Amino acid sequence: MISPEKEIDKYLQRMFYINRSITGDGNRETLKILQEIIPIKVKEYSTGDQVYDWVIPKEWNISDAWIKNSSGEKIISFKNSNLHVVSYSTPVQRKIKFRELKKHLHYIEDLPNAIPYRTSYYHETWGFCVSFEQYQELFNKDDDEEYEVCINSKLHNGSLSVGELILPGKSEKEILISCYICHPSMANDSLSGVILTAFLAKQLMEKELNFTYRIIFVPETIGAISYCAKNELRMKHISYGLVITTVGGPGKFGYKQSWDKECCINSLVEDVFLDENIEYKKYLFDIHGSDERQYSSQGFRINCITITKDKYYEYDYYHTSLDNLKFVQAKYIRQSLNLYSHLINKLEKNLTFKNRMPHCEVMLSKHDLYPKTGGGINQLNINAEKSKMDIILELLFYCDGESDLHQISKSINIDMEILYDFAIELKDKFILEVVA
Ligand code: ZN
Repeated sequence: MISPEKEIDKYLQRMFYINRSITGDGNRETLKILQEIIPIKVKEYSTGDQVYDWVIPKEWNISDAWIKNSSGEKIISFKNSNLHVVSYSTPVQRKIKFRELKKHLHYIEDLPNAIPYRTSYYHETWGFCVSFEQYQELFNKDDDEEYEVCINSKLHNGSLSVGELILPGKSEKEILISCYICHPSMANDSLSGVILTAFLAKQLMEKELNFTYRIIFVPETIGAISYCAKNELRMKHISYGLVITTVGGPGKFGYKQSWDKECCINSLVEDVFLDENIEYKKYLFDIHGSDERQYSSQGFRINCITITKDKYYEYDYYHTSLDNLKFVQAKYIRQSLNLYSHLINKLEKNLTFKNRMPHCEVMLSKHDLYPKTGGGINQLNINAEKSKMDIILELLFYCDGESDLHQISKSINIDMEILYDFAIELKDKFILEVVA
């Protein structure tokens, strides 16, 4: 059997170089490869469809692009890196003077060996991205020097592709897991999250689930907006969301809080870090970020968290060619996967139970829940570790069909997982029932 780390690495290597964008064949190829891991359904949303205030754009595909100098030498080639072309560049093939070409060149002076990642989704133009070193070495800065540029791209009426996997649980309560598939050759931003999501989904498929999981692979922003518009009713009933991205860097773990900081998912994430004895950086919710911007908008208000390892915006190589397979490693994705998996185990146990016999106390002995000899229990000794009977009494007192186990656990200071085991025992005796 191949180790999970090797499996993750295999997919990193295979998928890194695919030319992804917000639409196009690269996204379909990515989804097709993911289907080897999990049975996702691919959905296509047509160009021109109105999705809230947006319109699904034309599909973009590209086969080649290059810049030749005046001696006909190819100095920049899309075949070397798909980051060399501004994503969504319109087609072009012509001779051009440097004075005009330089307006279409992007580079980062502070990171001289990095090719930047640039996009132009909603403004038709074209451009090339080069490292500052390439800019210095390969271009004669004479304004009258002639170059030839070619971008063999196509913008046409097509569709935007998304992947979806729904894993039904016992309850209709749904948890959204979302990642974005729109970045070309960058490993931490986008791809690490896509691979982690696929492996997390694979783990979930092997479990008996309490909740239903809606797992989606969408291009960032427009894909998330389109998905919300096309699945509005379902999306309005999601309980929590995990937006998975930037999980594979060598840096520190962190998590971005959901919009309502009181929501239990935040405290559950912190419990995961605590259990695992991992130091982390907490990012308070803010309106910038990834697709939680859509899922937490007024119409949906889903509480979404993101656990990260080298969070987007924060690492130097963000949105450059240095966010590559040297920077990201399978072992880091594996570590992040364990945290998400641990979080889901906790979420799965955070059920809401209702006492089916709310009037007065339940006669515990009748249900074989009372110690055979009465009178010996010091009920006032609140400092002692709670006995099994205390925990049962607490559950019967607090499980009112409103408070979930996490709330009860925090208010009586007993680990949620311990409460869960007792609650299940009481459910099996038909004393408690699960209401959510
Ligand atoms: Zn990005």
